[in-house]
Amino acid sequence: MTKVIVITGASSGIGEATATLLAKNGAKLVLGARREDQLKAIVQAIQEQGGEAVYAVTDVTKQEQVEALKELALSTFGRVDVWINNAGVMPQAPFMAASVQEWEQAIDINVKGVLYGITASLPVMARQKAGQIINIASVEGHHSHVGGGVYSATKYAVRAISDSLREEMAQMEGNLRCTVISPGAIQTELVGTVADENIKSAYEDFYRSHGISAERVALTIQQAIDLPEDTAWNEVVMRPIKQVL
Ligand code: NDP
Repeated sequence: MTKVIVITGASSGIGEATATLLAKNGAKLVLGARREDQLKAIVQAIQEQGGEAVYAVTDVTKQEQVEALKELALSTFGRVDVWINNAGVMPQAPFMAASVQEWEQAIDINVKGVLYGITASLPVMARQKAGQIINIASVEGHHSHVGGGVYSATKYAVRAISDSLREEMAQMEGNLRCTVISPGAIQTELVGTVADENIKSAYEDFYRSHGISAERVALTIQQAIDLPEDTAWNEVVMRPIKQVL
């Protein structure tokens, strides 16, 4: 069956690579993010390759916009088979910097955005008696370091939320699946959003020498979707082989 797949944060990096790969392999895509020009170009590229995709400008910190993204999927394609909560930011600064606005933004996007995605998609999947929610966490949801406390906290939260969601889905009728993908260093625009210039430049050096492409994550997501419907990878931790932590 052709799957209808919603991706948040689809305007660059992992979201874009995943949309491109899944569309190439026949899925119908519904893409959300804030940058409309990027979304428009990605949808156009998919259509030029013979694929099917639509987009809606979506800020995942606004629940009504996440709901509207779901409505677009239902009105265009009639169902939601996979919902990928991918939108995220990566604040990096020591607590002494008191970057309160960055903390709030990260919690709103990385945690509340995921919750809004679950709230939008789970009732649809319950009705369908089938569906998969894929949440993007991080290896930094498994450990923390100086400057990364808030980012790690958001990704630990994604894992906690997903574990609870998995148990809830297991008790529901049909085949409802939850998968967490926790990547290591992936070459995307994410590091560009780090405000502290010293930390940013250290990250850039590391990502340049060790990072792998977003297509690697896209491939892993495709594999998680392709598993038999009664089976799920609950979490995949993946990283470049030379990345130690
Ligand atoms: P990018 O910066 O390339 O992509 C982030 C995406 O999130 C963009 O499409 C951006 O789009 C979107 N986004 C940010 N804020 C919002 C918002 N408020 N509402 C909707 N969309 C938003 O980075 P990645 O592809 O690397 O990041 C994707 C996910 O992967 C994130 O959750 C990140 O934490 C995670 N991750 C990344 C790793 C890496 O090394 N790159 C490692 C581990 C996890 P727009 O600005 O247009 O809204």
